[in-house]
Amino acid sequence: MKSDIRVCSAWREAHDSPVYTLSGTCPDCGAETANSAPAPFDPNDPYGEYRRALKRRRR
Ligand SMILES: [Zn+2]
Repeated sequence: MKSDIRVCSAWREAHDSPVYTLSGTCPDCGAETANSAPAPFDPNDPYGEYRRALKRRRR
């Protein structure tokens, strides 16, 4: 069965972590959500720490 779980398309800019929802827009920032099926984010992403470090450095 196909999953209808969606993820905020702008979570990288707007949030510290992915915001999952069943609605078409993010409940937090109102951005459009994307189907999470082709997972844009892996909770076990080995590069997650690296990516967050990069983000921190850019501030
Ligand atoms: Zn959002």
